[in-house]
Parts: sequence; structure tokens; C-alpha cells
Amino acid sequence: MSKIKELGEFKLIHRLASRLKFRAPNTIIGIGDDCAVYPVKSGTNEIISTDALVEDIHFSLSNISPEVLGRKSLAVSLSDIAAMGGTPKRVLVTLGIPKKISVSFLEKLYKGFNSSCNQFKVELVGGDTVSSPKCFFINVSIVGETKTGRLFTRHGARSGDLIFVTGTLGDSSLGLKLLSQNKNWGSSKDRKYLIETHLDPAPRVLEAGILARSNLNITSMIDISDGLVQDLYHICQASKVGARIQEDRLPQSPEFLRTCSKNQINPSPFILNGGEDYELLFTLPADGVKKLKRQFLKAKTLVTQIGEITLKSKKVILKTKDGKNKILPDSGGYNHF
Ligand code: ADP
Ligand code: MG
Repeated sequence: MSKIKELGEFKLIHRLASRLKFRAPNTIIGIGDDCAVYPVKSGTNEIISTDALVEDIHFSLSNISPEVLGRKSLAVSLSDIAAMGGTPKRVLVTLGIPKKISVSFLEKLYKGFNSSCNQFKVELVGGDTVSSPKCFFINVSIVGETKTGRLFTRHGARSGDLIFVTGTLGDSSLGLKLLSQNKNWGSSKDRKYLIETHLDPAPRVLEAGILARSNLNITSMIDISDGLVQDLYHICQASKVGARIQEDRLPQSPEFLRTCSKNQINPSPFILNGGEDYELLFTLPADGVKKLKRQFLKAKTLVTQIGEITLKSKKVILKTKDGKNKILPDSGGYNHF
């Protein structure tokens, strides 16, 4: 008998999933990617995903406002839709409510839902409301769409493809550290930026739309929720390839850089394993790079080449600033157990 802790989150899911035998004839993607996928009408796939946020695991009521919590819980699900190159359409929200939660708290939470729904053109169409003994929790299920043939999955990366990431890395996890350990690092302006990035992350729905509408040959994509390295391992395992990333290419915000350098903080763990970046990590062959950069420049949004896909080692290697090749473990990121 294995303990859940020994198995870890991903082996546990794999073990439980292996007991399920029924398959609907038209499921395109089931368990194992950011969303499940099936066709709904000619030329269109529906994509669905669900994510739970539990008090004191994913958030602390002492440092997030209900409005921002509403936005964040939608952002997590919107990011999974973005990860497949999809357009979000509808959400269902389940609330688990302990006694300490007030009506006014929930109204503010819904102000946050409303704000994100308006921003991303998503309708909240239902849910469930139950009591919970101690902890407040929110579960968001999301439905989106992709065009057939413009669906990006974790498998499909090939040796020689280049690896890209949107935005910057490490801001959210450094923000969490500042917030949870009450650190006084850096300037108050930089602290505010990092903490806000953690509490109110921006799902890359616009960027996913740019990629989906282009004819770029995106060979694989995932969103970074567990940390760059762990999520890159998910691509490598699904695609049966390896990856080499270059330390000196990993994109960092000025706020992150200043805060790390002023306080002698080693930035690597935040960048490589921090998690909750909600950036898109994707691969494409070199002949698409010029076009990709042109489109992101036009949209005024950041994209950076951080490495390349290698032959079938299924290992992620970091080329360090001093030219060494270091094999990175695939267990460094976020694992619930
Ligand atoms: P993400 O970080 O993108 O939200 P997860 O790591 O939570 O993805 O999940 C990985 C995969 O496992 C997804 O395809 C998800 O649908 C599936 N999954 C997670 N939990 C369960 C579960 N309890 N039963 C079946 N499938 C699950
Ligand atoms: Mg995901």
C-alpha cells in the first residue's frame, strides 16, 4: 500500500486514472493535458478544465481581498484554456462556505468574478453552493473553444524546436514570499508589483489568441502553474523529448531583478521552480521565430526564446551562466503532497 505522499500528485492521478476504462468515442484529449478536448460541431472543439482553490493551501484570507480572490480563481482556469490556444466562453463556480464567511465577503468575491468575466468575455452560467466545516474553497470549471487544427497540446515538441515563454518568471513566487513571510525586501513599489502579480495574475488569453490565429507551427504548449522546470518536464514526458534551457535567457522583470540583487537573494529557485507564473511555455521550429516575434512586438507583449528541445532523453538541462550543463530534477516544482 502506497501512501499519497510517497506517490505525489502526478503519480496519484495516473494511478487513479488507470482504473477508468470507459472512453467516449469522440474524446480527442482526456486526462493528462491542461484541458480535455472533444468536437462539438464541424471545425470547432470544446475544451474543459476544472481547478480548486482551498483556503490556507492556495490563498490566505489574511492577505487577499475577496474581490482579488474572485479574479485569481478565474485566472487559474482561464490560464488552462489559454494553454491549449483556446478562447474561454463559460464558467461554473462552486463555493464551500464555512461559518466565518459573510454575505458581504461573497458579494465582493462576485464583484471580482464579474470584473474578470467582463474582461475576458466569459459568462458565469452556474455552480453549486455548499457549507464547509472549516476552510473556504472555490472550484471553477471552465469551458472554451478552439478551431480544429489550432489546438495546442503538451505532446508534439520535436528535437530542434525552440522553446519560448511569455512574460517574465519568478515574480509571483517572490511576491508570495514577500507576502507570507512579511519580508521588507526592495522598494515598496517593487514589492507592490511582485505581490500584485502573485495575488492577481494575468492569464495569457490574448497571447494564446495571437498564437491560435497565426499560422505558426506551435508544436506544444502548457501554462506554467507548477514552475518552469516541472511544466517543461510535462512537455518533455508527453512529447518523449528532452530540453535544454539557458540560464542567461530566462526573462525577469526589473522589479524582480532589483529586489533580488538588493537583498542578495538567489533568483534561480524562484525562476525555475517558483510556480504560479501563469505564463505560456511553448515550442516551435526555428523557421517560425521571425513571424512570432513580429506578432508579439505588434501586440506589445513579451515573448522570449529560452532554449531548445533535444533528442529523447526526457531530461531538462540548464546551461548555466558559466557554461556548465546541469540536469534539473523534475520534482522541484509545486506538488500538493
Ligand atoms: P493543471 O496544473 O494544468 O491544472 P493538473 O496538474 O491539475 O493540471 O492536472 C493534470 C491532469 O490530470 C489534467 O489533465 C487534469 O484534468 C487531470 N486530473 C487532475 N486531477 C484529477 C482527478 N482527481 N481525476 C482525474 N483526472 C485528474
Ligand atoms: Mg495547466
